Amino acid sequence: MSKSLQAIRGMNDILPEQTPVWRYFEGTVSRLLDNYGYKQIRMPIVEFTELFKRSIGEVTDIVEKEMYTFDDRNGDSLTLRPEGTAACVRAVLEHGITGGGQVQKLWYIGPMFRHERPQKGRYRQFHQIGLEVFNLEGPDIDAELIIMTWRLWGELGIRDAVKLELNSLGTSESRGRYREALVEYLSAHHDKLDEDSQRRLKTNPLRVLDTKNADTQAVLVEAPKMADYLDDESRAHFEGLKARLDAVGIPYVLNPKLVRGLDYYSKTVFEWVTDKLGAQGTVCAGGRYDGLVEQMGGKPTPGVGFAMGIERLVLMLETLEQIPQELSRQVDVYLCAFGEEAELAGLALAERVRDQLPNLRLQVNAGAGSFKSQFKKADKSGALYALILGDDEMAQQVVGFKPLRGQGEQQSIAWDALAAHLATCVVQG
Ligand code: ATP
Ligand code: MG
Repeated sequence: MSKSLQAIRGMNDILPEQTPVWRYFEGTVSRLLDNYGYKQIRMPIVEFTELFKRSIGEVTDIVEKEMYTFDDRNGDSLTLRPEGTAACVRAVLEHGITGGGQVQKLWYIGPMFRHERPQKGRYRQFHQIGLEVFNLEGPDIDAELIIMTWRLWGELGIRDAVKLELNSLGTSESRGRYREALVEYLSAHHDKLDEDSQRRLKTNPLRVLDTKNADTQAVLVEAPKMADYLDDESRAHFEGLKARLDAVGIPYVLNPKLVRGLDYYSKTVFEWVTDKLGAQGTVCAGGRYDGLVEQMGGKPTPGVGFAMGIERLVLMLETLEQIPQELSRQVDVYLCAFGEEAELAGLALAERVRDQLPNLRLQVNAGAGSFKSQFKKADKSGALYALILGDDEMAQQVVGFKPLRGQGEQQSIAWDALAAHLATCVVQG
């Protein structure tokens, strides 16, 4: 195929055979979010570039090298959103829905765009389900986010394969003091740091902590620890969070090197990680950002949120073979009709059945065809039963009802009785 007719590298089609798993995942998450009292918000995919620079931070990987930025026809600089928090904060401020301390528990779903090196679990268009809570400052809500995801892993059957890592970054004051101490220490070992870390030492020193370079990691062993710089309030907040996770029985590991790539976090940060996906091990990540709303021009408003990567979680379901059996069947009943008159009667009959059984997955044969070819299509559709309308059935105003899987003889069912009969033999989702 010519190059222009291919999808862009790192941007994938999600094909019909994959969408059932996606919908199962999205359905499970959205039901859970509804049950915990979260409301969906939908933001545009494109925003002013300035929004991301101001919220994510100029010296982050995302803003420095991963954004899809372009000028539109008015000459405005626009960017395909690399994440959802910035747009969500922009939206709540623009519509005044967090004013006066109003609590908002919001979630969103959709594509995000980052110009990264595509590989398994890392794409240039990827999808997140994200969540943000505004105007709740205590550790109880941080705990709720984590407890809810823990329940999600349980429902999806992947709980044993994920691990919770936790850290506290403190308030911006305590983080500032820590940053100074870290810079002082790392500067004294400047020559032993890798090139990237030397650069980060000047621009975003906390990011040195999550380096993958072994030499730099060795230097970090003796580096000052964030925990020693935490202010009392952040310490109490962190203890409050841990107590709640303990109360529910959620295991976690403290990871003092967990700093997250975005500038806006404070106090709690966490990641759910797995060793089942190779290098791309983080499936859900988030934290508290009490300073962000103010930084973006709003009144001081505490915030906390997370985002999970749908591609990675779908990969997990596949890798761990946790895809429910029933997803493989998309059709319950397949109606075959032979001849024009039967086709017309079949259409009307199908609509009557659908009136009574709105959840029935009933497929009506299209494209006519011989007895043999329609039957083949019925079988291939995965349907449990075929309905047959031929000359004999038309004459008697009945429909042939034939089990396609397993035993059972074909029976004749009166048109009027069909919906009731189907209701007894097809378990509806
Ligand atoms: P990573 O360290 O893997 O690059 P991140 O810290 O950049 O992740 P976040 O911005 O916190 O990621 O996004 C939350 C989640 O979105 C990640 O934990 C991951 O599951 C998913 N995610 C992030 N970037 C990508 C990507 N390029 N492709 C697929 N999923 C992604
Ligand atoms: Mg990243």
